[in-house]
Amino acid sequence: MEFDTIAAISTPLGEGAIGIVRITGPDAIKIADDIFQSPSGKTLMEVNSHTIHYGFIIDKRENKKIEEVMVSIMKGPKTFTREDVVEINCHGGLLSVNRVLQLVLTKGARIAEPGEFTKRAFVNGRIDLSQAEAVMDLIRAKTDRAMNVALGQMEGRLSKKIRKLRQEILEVLAQVEVNIDYPEYDDVEEMTHTLLQEKAKYVKNEIEKLLETSKQGKILREGLATVIIGRPNVGKSSLLNSFVHENKAIVTDIPGTTRDVIEEYVNVRGVPLRLVDTAGIRETEDIVERIGVERSRKVLKEADLILFVVNYNEEITEEDRKLFETIKGMDAIIIINKLDLPQKLDIEEIKKLAEGRTIIYASMKDDKGMDELEQAISSMYFKGEIETSDLTYVSNARHIALLNNAMQMIDEALFGVESGVPIDIVQIDMTKSWETLGEITGDSVHDELINQLFSQFCLGK
Ligand code: GDP
Ligand code: ZN
Repeated sequence: MEFDTIAAISTPLGEGAIGIVRITGPDAIKIADDIFQSPSGKTLMEVNSHTIHYGFIIDKRENKKIEEVMVSIMKGPKTFTREDVVEINCHGGLLSVNRVLQLVLTKGARIAEPGEFTKRAFVNGRIDLSQAEAVMDLIRAKTDRAMNVALGQMEGRLSKKIRKLRQEILEVLAQVEVNIDYPEYDDVEEMTHTLLQEKAKYVKNEIEKLLETSKQGKILREGLATVIIGRPNVGKSSLLNSFVHENKAIVTDIPGTTRDVIEEYVNVRGVPLRLVDTAGIRETEDIVERIGVERSRKVLKEADLILFVVNYNEEITEEDRKLFETIKGMDAIIIINKLDLPQKLDIEEIKKLAEGRTIIYASMKDDKGMDELEQAISSMYFKGEIETSDLTYVSNARHIALLNNAMQMIDEALFGVESGVPIDIVQIDMTKSWETLGEITGDSVHDELINQLFSQFCLGK
C-alpha cells in the first residue's frame, strides 16, 4: 500500500518540557533535511539509520533559526510504522514545537489524523489490532500497574492466547470435516460429538478465564469508581483530603470527558481509585443535595467501591441504617472515624449492619487508620500482590464484548452437541466463535471498524 507523508506533535509519555514533532512516510527524511541545519554542515539524507543529530530548524525563506533540536532518523522497515520515521525533539515550549510542525507541513507533509501513526503500524503489519488498542490504553494508563497490563498487551500476550484458541477451534473443525467425509466408520458420529463437546468445553473454559481477568483489567484501566458516603460532619472531606494528599493524585481532570460528575484519581498501592463526585463532598457536603436523589442513586449504583464513614462519637441514626440499606450487596468498607473522641457509637450494631465487610477504625485528626484502609483496598482488589507481568488482563471494552459474544456461540455449539442438533449447524456456531475471536486480533475485521477505532487515538500517536 502507498502512503503519503504525515506529521504531528507527539509528546512523550510522562510529558516534560520536550515536545516532539514526528514525521512518517516516504518523504519524511527529505522534509526534515529541508528544514534542518547541522553545525558541521552534514545532510540528513546521508546519515545512517537510527542515529540522532544535533542542529537547528531553519526557516530558509527568512533564513531564521527557529529552534535548537535533536533529530532522530529511523529508516523503515525497522520502525514503528515500518516507514521512514523522523522525530524532531524540540526543547522550547509548545509554541516552538508548533512552529516546527507548521514548517514541516509547508514542506509537503500532511497533518496526521488521530491515531494515524498507529493505524499505519497496523496496516503495515507491524502490530495487530489488540496491540494497537494497547497503545491507546498506554496513553491513558493511570498507574504503573495499568501501564504493565497495556505493555503486556502491546507485546502481544492477549493476541497469542487468542490465536492459540482460534487454532484449537480450527483444528477441531478440520477434524469434524474429515469425519464427515469418511462416514464409513460406525462410530464416527459419536466420535465427532465427543470431539466437538470436549473442544467446545475447553474453549469455553479458556474464554471464561480471560473474562474473569476483565474485572481487574477494567479497574486498572478506568480506575475503581469509589464513592465516599456518610452523614454530614462524620469526616468525609477529611478522608478525601488524606487520600489526595498522601497519595499522588494521578489525574485531576480528564480532557474529553463531558461528565458533570467531578472525579479525582489517586493511586492506592497500585490500585487506581477514581473518587467520584468529590466536588459534592467538598462544596455542599452532600451528594444528594447537590445532584439530586436520582443522580446520586445512579452514582452509587455505578460505584465499584463504597467508603462509608460513620462517627465513633455519635449514636447510630435512622439515616445511617438507610445508607446501609442502600448499599446492600455492594463492595464497601466501613470507616469508623473520630476514634480520638469518646465512644457513643454502638460498634456491635455497626458490625451487624456491615454484614461481614471490613471495618476500619480511624481518626482523620490523628492521621490514624489510613494505612489499614489502603491495605484493605489493595487486598480486596488484588489479593495482596499480584504479579501483573505474567498475567493477561483483558481490559478493553471491545475485547470483553467480543469474548462474551464468542462465549455465547460456544454455548450454543455446546447446547447443540448435547441436544443432538445436526453437526453442520454446530459447526456454524463454532466457526462464528472462531471469527469473533479473530476480531480481537484484527485477523477478521472490517475496514469501517478499523477507521472508527483508530480515530479514537490521541493525535500524534
Ligand atoms: P464531612 O461533613 O463528612 O465531610 O466531614 P468533614 O471532613 O468536613 O469533618 C467535619 C468536622 O470533623 C471537621 O471539623 C473536621 O476537622 C472534624 N474531624 C474529621 N475527622 C476527625 C477526627 O478523626 N477526629 C476529630 N476529633 N475530628 C475530626
Ligand atoms: Zn465535608
